[in-house]
Amino acid sequence: MNAVNLLDFDLEGLARWCAGFGEKRFRATQLFRWIHQRGASDFALMSDLAKSLREKLDQSAFIKPLEVISEQASADGTIKWLFSVGNGDAVETVFIPEDDRGTLCISSQAGCAVGCRFCSTGHQGFSRNLSTGEIVAQLWFAEHHLRKRLQLPVGQRAITNVVMMGMGEPLQNYAALLPALRVMLDDHAYGLSRRRVTVSTSGVVPMIDRLREDCPVALAVSLHAPADLLRDDLVPLNRKYPIAELLGACERYLERAPRDFITFEYCMLDGVNDSLEQAGQLLQMTRGRGADGQPVPVVNCKFNLIPFNPFPASGLLRSPTERVQAFARCLQDGGVVTTVRKTRGDDIDAACGQLAGEVQDRTSVRQRTATRAPIRIHARGSAVRPVPPEGVR
Ligand code: SAH
Ligand code: SF4
Repeated sequence: MNAVNLLDFDLEGLARWCAGFGEKRFRATQLFRWIHQRGASDFALMSDLAKSLREKLDQSAFIKPLEVISEQASADGTIKWLFSVGNGDAVETVFIPEDDRGTLCISSQAGCAVGCRFCSTGHQGFSRNLSTGEIVAQLWFAEHHLRKRLQLPVGQRAITNVVMMGMGEPLQNYAALLPALRVMLDDHAYGLSRRRVTVSTSGVVPMIDRLREDCPVALAVSLHAPADLLRDDLVPLNRKYPIAELLGACERYLERAPRDFITFEYCMLDGVNDSLEQAGQLLQMTRGRGADGQPVPVVNCKFNLIPFNPFPASGLLRSPTERVQAFARCLQDGGVVTTVRKTRGDDIDAACGQLAGEVQDRTSVRQRTATRAPIRIHARGSAVRPVPPEGVR
């Protein structure tokens, strides 16, 4: 029998695996608690498990941590880890402490196939999906490492919130993501509430529908443009799932979680998507008129404006602060709750979109070249892609 990595299992999976050699469910629960609540990786130390079970575990299972390549701490308390996932690939995980919470930003893939223009991960291309164990290992490591480092009293958690906003498109790695989310929510593991776990997506419509059925955690949608022409260019996945379909999926998502809202992320790019006219288009897009003529939300949403974190290969610039403020005011005046994200960990390149890891780009050259033509901005801020050279269309 091949030995298995126990970080790959949610509790159901672990119970099924334990049942395979005659162990009852409560044994699986005990084991699960040792691993996730106590951070144990040595079966010999799991003192309330029968010796015979510990011996069986020794032969047939292991707990595989990720190999830490580096750790960088920012002046503002943000910590970024670079983990090796083998074969030359590395992913990043970021801890962001705030007064009332500790947020862990987790990666779901080595690289990303979506290839958004403004994203450093996207520029590297796609290498591979992470396994459930590799997603969970980021939380497992960070939680137990930070408990020791911050000398937290027994029972106090270091990580209160998780955001799937590291490297990769989580909804393009759904099979591995779902059990990982279940581990995060499980009371026998990290016990995070549904609203404290956020999946951020560039808009994989069918998988938003699946997530709604399977595990409706908080949803953030990376919008970045008020109209398809521009979004097609910034977020190439829009050509497959245009804005109207994406908004439809958001509405359906909220049917399942009616007291929740969708967070629309909007990366502010100088001269590309930051005009007041575009803010007005966003308002029109997300709000309609009720029978009494008053504005009503089409999608119960909130906007989070992200100052663009520039990197040279993007050829894009950050919008000036005044323009971001004016854009935010316009949305707020239109009745949509809007926040401007504070950039954290800037000095260690840990802010949104700066996570680069080190990824062997295995995306085909054809695919990469086809999404890298420079953006031409039209007078009203829409963008068109110049015709690509022969052979890359
Ligand atoms: N693939 C998912 C989650 C990872 S990206 C998604 O796209 O939603 C997490 C967030 O960082 C997204 O909102 C993304 O649009 C934003 N982002 C990417 N590159 C950025 C950059 N250079 N500056 C600011 N935000 C960026
Ligand atoms: Fe992928 Fe998200 Fe970056 Fe787009 S923004 S390339 S979807 S990680």
